[in-house]
Amino acid sequence: MGFAAEIERIIAADPGERGIGGLVQPGDLARAAVALQAARTVLITTGFCVLSARSGETDGPPGAVVLSKALEAMGRKVVLVTDQYSHSILTATAAVYGVKAVVVEASIDAGEDYYAALLRHYQPSHIVAVERPGQAADGKYYNMRGGEITELTARTDHLFNLGRAAGIVAIGLGDGGNELGMGKVSEAIRRHIPGGAKIGAVAAADHLIVAGVTNWGAYGLVTYLSALLGTDLLHDPDWEEILLDTMLQQGAVDGVTAAASRRIDGLPIEVHCALVATLKARLGQYLDAGKTAAVAAN
Ligand code: ZN
Ligand code: ZN
Repeated sequence: MGFAAEIERIIAADPGERGIGGLVQPGDLARAAVALQAARTVLITTGFCVLSARSGETDGPPGAVVLSKALEAMGRKVVLVTDQYSHSILTATAAVYGVKAVVVEASIDAGEDYYAALLRHYQPSHIVAVERPGQAADGKYYNMRGGEITELTARTDHLFNLGRAAGIVAIGLGDGGNELGMGKVSEAIRRHIPGGAKIGAVAAADHLIVAGVTNWGAYGLVTYLSALLGTDLLHDPDWEEILLDTMLQQGAVDGVTAAASRRIDGLPIEVHCALVATLKARLGQYLDAGKTAAVAAN
């Protein structure tokens, strides 16, 4: 098994039993990483409002900031975009992790013109959506349980639609079928996800990373970028706890239980730390093997 396929297998663990296995696009993780190597400015949108709590969930911002920091370490410029429900959560998480990117707050009622201006201003070469709601076929936004969050979601779909029309590469990361970018696998969402025909997002990404938890998809992407560059850009498991606690201080809640507990997608923090540790260990072996091979060649 190639290294990319191995990472895809690790991040596709589906402890929430959402049936995401049928949505995974083998090879897209590697294609997304290769695409980002050529990036200049990357616009990353994240933040998913939990209906009952009226606040952003704990899945999304950690993935977005870990990816942001990796891209900044590669010398790329990053711009983060979210809406009011995740703005302070994302801002604090980015700050604690040392991400320099500006955090843009798009208003809920901003229309296409606003997003067109955003693209003109920042001139991104790539747009990445990390656990960001995507508009469904009926024009509304839904959570996993079919609850409507249209009034709680800025229309960041315009970034994907306008961006792709202008030749900007769009990368989507999700875990349920209702996230921006998932339109790439609409048919599979109808088949594999309960209520998929209703909640499935329409806007398609060029490269789609589907994971058991969306943060894991971002970590997998950073792991593969690290392998391509020969340098470890992934965070330590300890950071997983710091990022979560920072979000909780800003009012974030778990997306499954809607509680302000140390959980992401209903899974306790220990599960997430273990996932990062697994990726980190495997990346370390991969990088060491490369060094050994380089020494042997000399
Ligand atoms: Zn999701
Ligand atoms: Zn999630």
